Parts: sequence; C-alpha cells; structure tokens
Amino acid sequence: MSKAIVTGGAGFIGSYIVEELLSKGYEVIVIDNMSSGSRENLRRVIDNPKLRIVKADLKEPNNTWIDEFKSAEIVFHYAANPEVRVSSINPRIHFNENLLTTFNVLEASRQGSVKYIVFASTSTIYGDARKLPTPEDYYPLEPISVYGSVKLASEYLHITYSKLYGLKSLIIRYANVIGPRSRHGVIYDFILKLKKNPRRLEILGDGTQRKSYIYVTDAVNGTLFLFEKFLERGKDYEIYNIGNTDWVTVREIADIVVEEMGLENVEYAYKPMTSDGRGWPGDVKIMLLDISKARSLGWEPSLSSKEAVRLTARALLKELGRE
Ligand code: NAD
Repeated sequence: MSKAIVTGGAGFIGSYIVEELLSKGYEVIVIDNMSSGSRENLRRVIDNPKLRIVKADLKEPNNTWIDEFKSAEIVFHYAANPEVRVSSINPRIHFNENLLTTFNVLEASRQGSVKYIVFASTSTIYGDARKLPTPEDYYPLEPISVYGSVKLASEYLHITYSKLYGLKSLIIRYANVIGPRSRHGVIYDFILKLKKNPRRLEILGDGTQRKSYIYVTDAVNGTLFLFEKFLERGKDYEIYNIGNTDWVTVREIADIVVEEMGLENVEYAYKPMTSDGRGWPGDVKIMLLDISKARSLGWEPSLSSKEAVRLTARALLKELGRE
C-alpha cells in the first residue's frame, strides 16, 4: 500500500496529512483547486520527489484528476468549504463544494483502485446535542447548519459505498481544529480585527459560546493512528470523534489573543446574531466531543484546548507578520 491521494491537501489540515504520509514513505498525490489552499502550505515538502500536486476542481468530474484514482489505494478526503457561516448565507455553495465533491470522489474511488477512504467530518453533525460530551453513537443527529447536514449526508454516502461497493471508510468527526496555517475561524478573525483596530474587538455572539479545540498536529497524529487501527480491525467502516477533554469560551479566546498581541484595555463589543447569543444562525453554541472511543485504542491529545488556542494565536501572529 503506497500511493495515497489527499483531496484538499494544499489546505490547512490536508497539508499536515500530506507531511505525515510522506514521512511514512507514501507516494502522495494532492488534488486541490487552490480556492483556499496554497503551495505555500506544502513548502516543507514541496521538493519531495514522492509528492505530486494536481490542480483540479472536484466539482467537475474529468480526467485531470479522476485518472489518479486508477492507481491509488487510499484517499484522504479533506477538500471542502469549511466555513460554517457561509453555509447559512449561501447553502448552495456548501451543497456543491461539500456534497457534490464527495459524491464525485466516491465515484472516482469506486471506479478506480481505491480500497480505503478517510473522510474529514465534523462535530457540527451533532447539532445542539443534549448529551455532553457527545459520543459517536449519539442520537438523534440533527445538524443546525447546512455545513453540518451536508457533512452528515457525506458520511452516509461513505457508509453506503462501504456496504454496497466494499470501499472501506474511516470517518473522523473533528472538534475545532486550529494551528499554524489555519486561515479561518475565531482566532484568525480576532487577530485580523485587532490588527485593524487594537482598541476595540467585535465578538460575534455573546462570548459565552463554549467549545472544544484540538491542535492540528494532535488531530493529524490521531487520524493516522486511527487509520492504522482501522487497517488492523478490518471493519467496513468506523466513526471516531477527535477533540479534547476541555473546552474554552469565545470570551477566553479573545483574552488569550489580546494577551498574545500584547494589547491592553481592549473594549469587547458583543454582537449576538440570535436571541440566544449565537455568533450566527447555525452556530452550535456548546460543543464537547466524547473522545473515549479513540482514547480506548491508545490515542491521547497532547495539548488542551486552551494550550492549543494560545499556541495557535502565537503561530498565526508570526505568520501574519511575515505575510
Ligand atoms: P481548508 O479550507 O484549509 O482546506 C480545504 C482545502 O480544500 C483547500 O486547500 C481548498 O483549496 C480545497 N478545496 C475546496 N474546494 C475544492 C474543490 N471543489 N476541489 C478541489 N479542492 C477544493 O480547510 P481545513 O480547515 O483544512 O478543512 C479540511 C477538512 O476538514 C474539510 O473537509 C473540513 O470540512 C474538515 N473539518 C475542518 C475542521 C476545522 O476546524 N478546521 C473541523 C472539522 C472538519
């Protein structure tokens, strides 16, 4: 087993998956339309002869990229539009970028030589879960964003392709993944706003939103650890949560970013977008995943949510300073 495709491999999480796979000796083909990804994200490995980058849009099934699936055994499907807020404003974008692309990737996999697929799913499929921390078998699954619902539909497509066509699927439901190279989400947003105006910070929501965060290297190590277990276990498909055991509020994130930027006396201007103080319609206000299933196999995150937030703020400030 030596050739792996990483869709979205020039993006934030995907680029770390690519680095890990190359370090394990895989030949890696990145398929990415570079809508939010970049070659810069792959700069550490760009000269590796085992890496090839194919610029292509997965919405359009054509031979620019489908041919790659005729000789690969593994696919890490990470291409998507990850912006939950966009899905509330323009659901069609998410239908096309997240569900149509997934269907095209599954079809290419089925018609090609692919045996295993790892899918980047999300905590948002649980919606406003009544059980916290939320385990993988939580029911009913009622996503409150179109992003969550197309990811859940994508999970079901993976499950059906495993039952119907024998394509083995590992589905990972990530909490909020943060770290160097991330270019969306609350930490990035706060840094950009504070760079513009260091005296006042607009905070979407009432600041009490409380969620779990996972540092990108922990998320990626966990994914590859679970993939190895998945190969050993030989199941048709498996689903795992990857996240942290603690959580952090948006207000605390603001405090950490302000501190890391060396600012003082910043006025916080809260902007609740729903009557119950969410950052936008479709924003899950409280999220904590039960990660005991992954832990029972031996995986542990090395950094807490708060540590991950601080390290990310520091890393992004460095990166943005450079840019
Ligand atoms: P990202 O935007 O950095 O990466 C997505 C990549 O997909 C980009 O490189 C982009 O150019 C590419 N892409 C998008 N549409 C494409 C298309 N039509 N054809 C080809 N390439 C396309 O986002 P990320 O945060 O690295 O997210 C990676 C995956 O993980 C996504 O599936 C996302 O939904 C999932 N996820 C992310 C988080 C998180 O907190 N970051 C949490 C849960 C799940």
